[in-house]
Amino acid sequence: MAVASGPCPNCGSPIEFRAGASLSIVCPFCKHVVVRTDRDLRNLGRVADVTFSDAALSPGDRGTFRGRPFAIEGRLVLQHPAGGTWEEYYAIFDGRHPGWISEAQGFWQVVTAAPIQAPRLQVLRPQVQVPLGPHGTFVVGETNQGTFLSGEGELPFAASPGTRRTFVDLSAPGGGWASIDYGDGTSAPQVFVGVQTTFAEFQVQPRGGDRPVAKVSTQAITCGNCGAPLPVLSAGTERAACKHCNALTDVKLQQVVAQQGKARETPSIELGRKGVLPVADARGVIGAEWTVLGYVERSTGERFSDEWFGWQEYLLYNVQHGYRWLVFDEGMVYYVTPLAAGDIDASRAPTFVRRGDIHFRQRNAQTARVDFVLGEFYWKVEVGETVWAEDYEHGRELVSSEKNANEISWSHGVVIPLQAVTQAFGFTPKASAYGGAAEGGKSTASPVILIVIIVLVILVVGMASCATCLGGGSGSEGSGSSSSSGGFRGVGGSSSGGFGGK
Ligand SMILES: [Zn+2]
Ligand SMILES: [Zn+2]
Repeated sequence: MAVASGPCPNCGSPIEFRAGASLSIVCPFCKHVVVRTDRDLRNLGRVADVTFSDAALSPGDRGTFRGRPFAIEGRLVLQHPAGGTWEEYYAIFDGRHPGWISEAQGFWQVVTAAPIQAPRLQVLRPQVQVPLGPHGTFVVGETNQGTFLSGEGELPFAASPGTRRTFVDLSAPGGGWASIDYGDGTSAPQVFVGVQTTFAEFQVQPRGGDRPVAKVSTQAITCGNCGAPLPVLSAGTERAACKHCNALTDVKLQQVVAQQGKARETPSIELGRKGVLPVADARGVIGAEWTVLGYVERSTGERFSDEWFGWQEYLLYNVQHGYRWLVFDEGMVYYVTPLAAGDIDASRAPTFVRRGDIHFRQRNAQTARVDFVLGEFYWKVEVGETVWAEDYEHGRELVSSEKNANEISWSHGVVIPLQAVTQAFGFTPKASAYGGAAEGGKSTASPVILIVIIVLVILVVGMASCATCLGGGSGSEGSGSSSSSGGFRGVGGSSSGGFGGK
């Protein structure tokens, strides 16, 4: 039953609002945003023509999340200041509670409106703690802006297409998630609280029929530089680097955006390879089949200087669980899982950070640089891009952060046996200056690097007793690894933000 109806003020077609919480609707006939007021319907202008993604949800869908019924009433398309776009789904839960559902890098965010006073935007920075009433304390992961570009169906705010909206994403330990919508600054901010989850917890009855077609048809990409096929195995892929000519292609634009030098190392794991790792990741996932999507060489310190360290990273993908990394760092392999900002208590950083009851001591803090990439990536990767990276260690585990002014991304890495990687993905050791294990387990790093490693090992061992007392007793294994490892490559214009987060 419609809660409001009337002719579209632009084209005269019949307009019906279904949800009482909705303030505007995108006219399905003329694509103008129609806002309802106490008296009439008004036209706020036309949305941009976009091709919607073929995401797992679509307006018109009904479903349940953890047993709670919801209806997808609308879809919002926002443009990130760095370029790309992302989508948010406006949903009504239990027939009356407005909320948002969104997906980012394999994780889903489900939030509903909460009657909580929002903090002042000016005090919010990445990792700042924010009390959200009865929901507890949350941690800011990202503050950002998005331009209201397009949409369909109903929306809970009245805004003209082209207006810029500010949002803040927060998280809490154990999967808590929150978003604060500061809008365009002319109305009171709205707080939404919920969880971060996986799609397995949704049960969806699609509306059927006319689902929008995919923006990117996978496997249909060709390298614009050499004409070779460029596999795109994940719908979230933004950039892909050709293994034949190294050219970097923007997948959505289908344009070559950069060239790379050819005289680099070849990956020790074949891209596209699928495998199962026999160990659990930091989110408890075990037994999932991962596809190796991408290969990155990163380093820190000035090239040809004593401070230079390089390492290799492989991006793994599973459609249900999102992204993970394998990081090869001075002969060690770390299995790296993205965390939410709320999973880490960084109030005592840089001395140490805490994940649960475990203290991690700072090991490195430095600028990390991307030197070379092959395969596909979920962010607009650029060779030469840098990010501020910090590593904290506890025994054979690391937590790492990468951050810029607007966003912080945390990840957890644990050392896993090289044989597990060999069995799962056919890893073939090669001599490498980029952190790869050499044959026979001997490092082929230059003598200068070896000396630095030895010094660092001594330092690490020297610090172990201290780390142990803080870490609750099990922190003395001392990985002896010396250079930085990587984390969740969300920073640097890659991840966009949203009311539900992205
Ligand atoms: Zn119309
Ligand atoms: Zn090519």
